[in-house]
Amino acid sequence: MSSQPQAHILFSREEIETMVKRLAAEIKKDYQGKHPLLLGILKGSFMFMADLIRFLDFPLEIEFIRLSSYGRGRSTSGKIKVVQGLRSSIKDRDVLVIEDIVDTGLTISFLLDYLQKKKPASLKLCALTDKHSRRQIPVTIDYLGFTVPNKFIVGYGLDWDEKFRNLPDICVLEGEG
Ligand code: 5GP
Ligand code: MG
Repeated sequence: MSSQPQAHILFSREEIETMVKRLAAEIKKDYQGKHPLLLGILKGSFMFMADLIRFLDFPLEIEFIRLSSYGRGRSTSGKIKVVQGLRSSIKDRDVLVIEDIVDTGLTISFLLDYLQKKKPASLKLCALTDKHSRRQIPVTIDYLGFTVPNKFIVGYGLDWDEKFRNLPDICVLEGEG
C-alpha cells in the first residue's frame, strides 16, 4: 500500500492575508488613475487573484488565460501552449499577470513574450511564490508574495495531480512518489 503524501504548512492563512494586503497596497499605489487588466494564469492563481482583488478598491478588469506546460510529472517540459487564450484585446492596456509560482521561469517567460507582442501599454508580473533556486531564465517579478524553498508546493490554488488546491495555507508536500 502506498502512503498518502502529507502537506505541511509553510505559510499560514494569516501570513498569506498579511502578504496579500501588502501586495495590494503596492499595486494600488502603482496603478493610481489607471484601469488595469489583471490576467490570471489558470488554474493555480485563482485563489490568490480572488483574494488580491478584494483589496484593490479601484476600477480594474480581470481575465484568465490557460497554459499547458506541465504534461505529466513535477517539472516543466519547456513546451508551453496557450490552451485558453484571451477573449479581449490587451493592446494599450495596463496588464498585470497573476501567477502562482515561478520555478524555472520557462512558463512565465513564454507568456510574457506572447503578451508583449500584443502591444500592451504596460506589462507587469505579480507572483504568489518564487522558487528562485530553480531559475533557468531570468524573470523580473514586480510584485512577489513569498520566496519558497526547492520543494513541491501545494495549497492556496496550487495542486499536485489536481489535488490540494483547496488547502487554505501554502504547504510543502512530502512523501509523494
Ligand atoms: P516554470 O515554467 O517556471 O518551471 O513552472 C511554472 C509552473 O510550474 C507553475 O505555473 C506551476 O504550474 C508549476 N510548478 C512549478 N513548481 C511547482 C510547485 O512546487 N508546485 C506546484 N503545484 N506547481 C509547480
Ligand atoms: Mg501555473
